[in-house]
Amino acid sequence: MEAGGFGLAANVGVALLFALSFGAIAATDPSQRHARLFAAAYLLGMLTPLCELLVRYTSLPTFFSLAGYASFLASMLVTAYSVATFFGQRSSRRLLMALFVGGVALRMMIWGGPRDWLPYELAYQAPFALAMLAATLAASRVRPRRLLTVVLTVDFALVAAHFPLKAVASVWLGSGATARDYAASNYAALSQAVTGLLLTSAGLVLLLLVHEAAVLRSRSEANSDPMTGLDNRRGFFARLDRLLAEADRSHRPVPVVLFDLDQFKAINDRHGHAAGDRVIGAFAAVLEAHVPPGGAVARLGGEEFAMVLPGLGLDAAWRLAERVRHVAATAPVEGIAYTVSGGAAERMPGRPMDAALARADRALYAAKAQGRNRIARAAAEPERGAEILALDRAG
Ligand code: GH3
Ligand code: MG
Ligand code: MG
Repeated sequence: MEAGGFGLAANVGVALLFALSFGAIAATDPSQRHARLFAAAYLLGMLTPLCELLVRYTSLPTFFSLAGYASFLASMLVTAYSVATFFGQRSSRRLLMALFVGGVALRMMIWGGPRDWLPYELAYQAPFALAMLAATLAASRVRPRRLLTVVLTVDFALVAAHFPLKAVASVWLGSGATARDYAASNYAALSQAVTGLLLTSAGLVLLLLVHEAAVLRSRSEANSDPMTGLDNRRGFFARLDRLLAEADRSHRPVPVVLFDLDQFKAINDRHGHAAGDRVIGAFAAVLEAHVPPGGAVARLGGEEFAMVLPGLGLDAAWRLAERVRHVAATAPVEGIAYTVSGGAAERMPGRPMDAALARADRALYAAKAQGRNRIARAAAEPERGAEILALDRAG
């Protein structure tokens, strides 16, 4: 095999490895629709060097030459489409299809044209450059920008730009008088090496992005409550860690309110569990509508919720909780009236959150004992010394 042939064979293998990697991701996690699309793009891309080899080693050079061209263009367009949809952008399938048909038609129109003549070579490369420009635009529009998306944008831009440069290089180095000679040319070796390298690096970045999306999704699923969409207990404590660290840096107290729906067993008994679920969902929406920026709400379990309000004083937190209670008490869900009780407490900078949560819990029980449908305030946090004195007395 000539030098160019080895390059082509290596690119078949590389493209196949990427197709298998994306295919494996799609197989282990069927919700990764995009992994299937990326696998398809690399399978199509694999056909290109394969066709170019067959141009050389079969008696159908024209067919495989055109098939190689079409598969390469299709692979780039599928990449542009899947990158756009992966990042939640709308992508015009019709426009990409028109680019494909137009590109293949252009290739047929210039068939037998003067190889190694710059306008011919530029026309040959133009559809590829346009397809990669579409992929570059999709990657550049991703917000928020991250290192990986910037690297992907730069990589795609390099791929797009290298096509016209290849046209120049082919004129300079000579790409062989016929398609059959092409595979044996120095130009083919250089072209395959550069294109292969750029597409390999883009493939690696795409793999990392697909992997990152899977990790982020499973993390957010683990931390959220599917019924209400609020953070669950685990998500709440993860978020709390960050909020507390921030509050400690700015030496601010952190008020917390625990809510518990009143007589919820009776609501279930009277209206059924499904209706109870909808009341829980409605109260979650009330909480969400009231949490200020920088605050957090969560469903800790069952019909119990928490609200953390960094930056508010205990009085302001209590007033906000009272508003939540009032809105809940005056907004029946499907005709089902319900009420909620709450307990508010405050965690001073640097103090343990557990103690503040325990005080909020005791206040909540006091609210229940006082007749429900009210928010009780915990006594201020005892001074360190007072706490020790209290312990001494208890001992
Ligand atoms: P209290 O005012 O003292 O809080 O009375 P309660 O009936 O709300 O108290 P308790 O904790 O005894 O009962 C809570 C009820 O909440 C029992 C349980 O069936 C119901 N519950 C917990 N989780 C869910 C849920 O996801 N959906 C529904 N529909 N009910 C739930
Ligand atoms: Mg309860
Ligand atoms: Mg309850």
